[in-house]
Amino acid sequence: MKKRKTLSYLLTPDAMFEKFDDITPEFLLSHGIKALLIDIDNTLAPYEQPLPDERIKNYFASLSSVGIKAALVSNNNSERVELFNRDLGLIAFADSKKPTKKTLLLAMEKMGSTVENTAAIGDQLLTDALGAHNIGIPAYIVPPIKDKRNLFFRFKRLLEKPYIKKYKKLHENNQEDK
Ligand SMILES: [Mg+2]
Repeated sequence: MKKRKTLSYLLTPDAMFEKFDDITPEFLLSHGIKALLIDIDNTLAPYEQPLPDERIKNYFASLSSVGIKAALVSNNNSERVELFNRDLGLIAFADSKKPTKKTLLLAMEKMGSTVENTAAIGDQLLTDALGAHNIGIPAYIVPPIKDKRNLFFRFKRLLEKPYIKKYKKLHENNQEDK
């Protein structure tokens, strides 16, 4: 059934996790997910970390060992994305302009995945969750590793609050329902 694109649907995470590697291959496979669109900044690593660490490399290895494909889809610039992806060798897009659809759809096309078997992982509701829901895939959200503390970012977090609350309310009585 096609979900209605209400603001509440568009911005509410489908599942929330403490950190990216809590989104395990087992969880993904049990939800029929075979491909991921993954944000970089504050999801996998803070802005000032230019290269993936062992934890990140292990995560992608664990995904690929069970046949789950992954693409990096970042709104950051190509220098950031290319350097970060140098040793990972994933399908990767810079300047993605999330929450718009174009790059997300292109990344899915490159992975050969469909809306039925793809999910997005990110830290921001207004780009990552909204982008995922714009194309009709689930949004798995982690809290930002390190927030930029300027006024614009604090304002965005404030906007996100009711939707985080809504998610928690929906799921507090049913932890199995992730
Ligand atoms: Mg981010």
